[in-house]
Amino acid sequence: MSDLRVRFAPSPTGTLHIGGARTALFNYLLACKEQGTFVLRIEDTDTERSTQQSVDAILQAMEWLGLSYDEGPIYQSERFELYKTKVAQLLDAGLAYRCYCTAEELEAKREKAMKSGGKPRYDGTCRQRSDQPDAPFVVRFKSPQAGVVSFVDRIKGTISVDYAELDDLIIQRSDGTPTYNFVVVIDDAEMGINLVIRGDDHVNNTVRQIPIYEALGYQVPEFAHVPMILGADKKRLSKRHGATSVMDYRTMGYLPEAMVNYLVRLGWSYGDQEIFSRDELIEKFSLENVGRAAGVFNPDKLLWLNEHYIKTGDPRRLGQLLVGYLADLGVSTDQGPELEAVVKTLQDRAKTMVEMAEGAAFYYRAPETYDPKAAEKNLTDDKRPVLDLLIEELANVEDFCHDTIEQAFQKVMEQTGLKLGKIGPTVRVALTGGSTSPSIYDVIAVLGQQETLARLRKALTFLS
Ligand code: GLU
Repeated sequence: MSDLRVRFAPSPTGTLHIGGARTALFNYLLACKEQGTFVLRIEDTDTERSTQQSVDAILQAMEWLGLSYDEGPIYQSERFELYKTKVAQLLDAGLAYRCYCTAEELEAKREKAMKSGGKPRYDGTCRQRSDQPDAPFVVRFKSPQAGVVSFVDRIKGTISVDYAELDDLIIQRSDGTPTYNFVVVIDDAEMGINLVIRGDDHVNNTVRQIPIYEALGYQVPEFAHVPMILGADKKRLSKRHGATSVMDYRTMGYLPEAMVNYLVRLGWSYGDQEIFSRDELIEKFSLENVGRAAGVFNPDKLLWLNEHYIKTGDPRRLGQLLVGYLADLGVSTDQGPELEAVVKTLQDRAKTMVEMAEGAAFYYRAPETYDPKAAEKNLTDDKRPVLDLLIEELANVEDFCHDTIEQAFQKVMEQTGLKLGKIGPTVRVALTGGSTSPSIYDVIAVLGQQETLARLRKALTFLS
């Protein structure tokens, strides 16, 4: 064990997105590599936008990606008491104050500031107030008014901002709930987080959080802000670029290992290596190799990785996964050939599990109709003698397997003088209903003798 403590802190206001998943992955990998501790914290202080459904969706996505955590999930909504005591601590120390400015007053100040070319910052009206009128108030943190806040980001290098740029942040809303920038400091500090890895959309928050750490007497952690992810048009990744929710990729037939491999390379590199097992990632991942430039989401590359992992995947495991994808197509696998055998015939040709399921459906569902074009060409009456013969030969096979099936075909070819190119397409339509499938001997071997004969016989009735 090392004393590294990192965390992933999603807000449960939607599903887990590509960017969040990558942040979670980087934290997970570093914790595994350094044998540190990975904490999952659910940032649900925004009670209006947070939902249990989103929490479940995030947990499910993390499980799918195999991003296990050592502590948590810890819910901020269960920690309001702690945050309250910290607000009181700052108020008592004169490091925060009650602000009674109304929304209208603030809007007027904003407009005035904008008109005079200034930034729409809070002007500190209530800073000096000592009365406590019986009116709604927020609590603001007294941001230092001079000097510079500065930190060394593990990815971006030194980042500094003049305190003059920052106004007095609201740390508690008028309904008494604490705000993100405040609770995140308390939680990261109280949970002993010593390295915060998150998206670089939070850099502006970090400079606001650092003075709060200091005011509360906490040690400031290290920070690593990961550049954001863009679409091919170099705009921030959004729905316009396709699916952004991680679990949508499962629905589309992607394997979690492809997703993980893809996500890690979005912003991190190791020479020109593209394919990494999980163990390799844990061994090789480091913040030093996270780039400073934004990553561009490339769906083609994700598909390429998926194809690779399907091709090289364990057929038994893929078979288990296939069940769900077939069920989505309304195909039951309760009866029919062994899944593992089915997968083996399709692994080389499917880019996604959805494609594999589409290609596998015929194994479990005998064709009810035949593809009209394929039938017109191949299920013609002149094929009757060869089908008759093939049925006879296949029925006589004792040890039904690829080789004996091939021998049966050889006999039919010798007796009819027809080549496989003439017989194969007919058999294929008869067995699968269409004109594309894995090798015909494989298909027959997997379907089994009885089912093959039944389908060939049925095709014969179609000929007449
Ligand atoms: N809850 C924040 C979010 O989902 C992340 C906060 C953080 O990582 O500090 O954007």
